[in-house]
Amino acid sequence: MATFGNTSKERLITCHNDLQLIMENTIKYMDFSIAYGVRTDKEQQDLYAKGRVLEDGGWRIIGPIVTNCDGIVKKSKHQPINGVSNAVDIVPFSNGSMQWNDDKLWKKLSREVWKSIQMLLLQGKISNEIRWGGFWTSMVDKPHWEIK
Ligand SMILES: [Zn+2]
Repeated sequence: MATFGNTSKERLITCHNDLQLIMENTIKYMDFSIAYGVRTDKEQQDLYAKGRVLEDGGWRIIGPIVTNCDGIVKKSKHQPINGVSNAVDIVPFSNGSMQWNDDKLWKKLSREVWKSIQMLLLQGKISNEIRWGGFWTSMVDKPHWEIK
């Protein structure tokens, strides 16, 4: 059975309790890492700047972008509310490293997370609806799970 490494654990405890329970159940069935829990405003702004340049007071896209939330006008769910992140980013882990490009593993991981969500909802252990970034159309965000 897979277990979380220390870095993943440290990131996961910054997340909403429902997200912690979901991921702790999912790791029993498949190995994956926690890539992000809580983000500071500065970290969110730095991520937004990836693939963009500031020109004449506006942002212009020049390469692959990783978020649509600028961290100021549009906040990310990773930016804490009452000290807690309402989003978590997870990535399949195999052969000693995170597997960003393995479609089969991404599919399996999302299936396992959905199974955990359904089970925990049925058991009454979590109470929030969960949204997956893999269903978004403006920017598909497979690692991303958030409290609705
Ligand atoms: Zn995310």
